Amino acid sequence: MDRVISLSVGEIALKGKNRSFFENKLISHVKRVLQGLSIGKVYKEQGKIYVEVGEDSINEVINRVKKIFGIYYISPCIRVSKNIGDIKAAVLKIAENIKYKDEVKTFKVKTNRSDKKFPIKSPEFSREMGAVILKNIEGLSVDVNNPDVYVYIDIKQNVYVYTDKIKAYGGLPVGTNGKGLLLLSGGIDSPVAGFLMAKRGVEISAIHFHSYPFTSERAEEKVKNLAKILSSYTGKIRMYSVNIIDIQKEINTKCPEDEMTILSRRFMMRIAERVARENDIDVLITGESLGQVASQTVESISVTNASVNMPILRPLVGMDKVHIIDIAKDIDTYETSILPYDDCCTLFLPKHPVTRPKLKYIERSEENLDVEGLIEKALETMEIYDVE
Ligand code: ATP
Ligand code: MG
Repeated sequence: MDRVISLSVGEIALKGKNRSFFENKLISHVKRVLQGLSIGKVYKEQGKIYVEVGEDSINEVINRVKKIFGIYYISPCIRVSKNIGDIKAAVLKIAENIKYKDEVKTFKVKTNRSDKKFPIKSPEFSREMGAVILKNIEGLSVDVNNPDVYVYIDIKQNVYVYTDKIKAYGGLPVGTNGKGLLLLSGGIDSPVAGFLMAKRGVEISAIHFHSYPFTSERAEEKVKNLAKILSSYTGKIRMYSVNIIDIQKEINTKCPEDEMTILSRRFMMRIAERVARENDIDVLITGESLGQVASQTVESISVTNASVNMPILRPLVGMDKVHIIDIAKDIDTYETSILPYDDCCTLFLPKHPVTRPKLKYIERSEENLDVEGLIEKALETMEIYDVE
């Protein structure tokens, strides 16, 4: 009787010919997060991925693999051969565990016979194993319509017996869907945006704009910590850190006060696009949500967009703030995001920012600036580091 953890892959199962590519990516993530633990083989068997584990590392393995995108359910299983006696023993062992859970009074056995050479059909085998449990374990009865727990028996090359299906995040493995550059501020939204796009398989790098020494080193540290939390889901994240204080000063002296935010946002986009192209990254990602603030009206988004030629993914565009906050709490970025350190956007913040900017006027304002020169100069002092 071996202990294994099974990982259900959900959406990957729909991938047809590309399926192996997705599964292999997932397996490489599993191996990465389990580094340092003593585990056995990690292998595929008919649609699921299995990890051989020792009894005492089960919980740790579950906690670690829970954060890998592409996994829908995690089940601690007992693995046995296709010998009826062994299967019975496994079923009893599993049933014994559930007996001790107070809320569990009823069960149903569900057999999934992928190996059609196995001589007993699924419904019949479920009945037989149900009878074994009834006979040997006190206090449990069968309820076929609404059981408190299911006892699952998957008959494949090996046989797997389990009850728990622990829900994971789902999505697709990071690295199966291109690369994106996340514009990561210290706020609540952008880490959530990065999380959601990584969950769709995008490999994330992050760029942060600051106005040091007008913004503090602690503000930088905060963003680094947010990237670190994100990296616990995605693996290593490359960070690009760009000082835009000179750009802001230039805008402040040469352009209308109420255009400060939209003009600096256009600079951020251009710099991000430049960094992305130089690093083989295909899309930008922001935490913009329609209507949330002045710079996120349809008009502002349109004017921001016009500064670049690269697609910008905005996974939060239609989400309410309360929902975004719920996700931020769930993924553990919220507490860090609300730390009250200065952001570069609060510097020179206009009293009445334009909410319906017109591209024509914004471009006219930019004629007062050496856009290219300012970008080049900001990039010269860009810092690059990895967080993990
Ligand atoms: P967030 O909570 O992500 O800071 P926000 O609600 O404060 O968002 P804005 O300040 O309008 O909204 O920023 C919109 C988006 O622009 C952010 O989600 C982020 O992707 C990007 N952004 C803003 N400021 C920065 C910054 N200093 N560095 C990098 N990206 C930024
Ligand atoms: Mg912000």
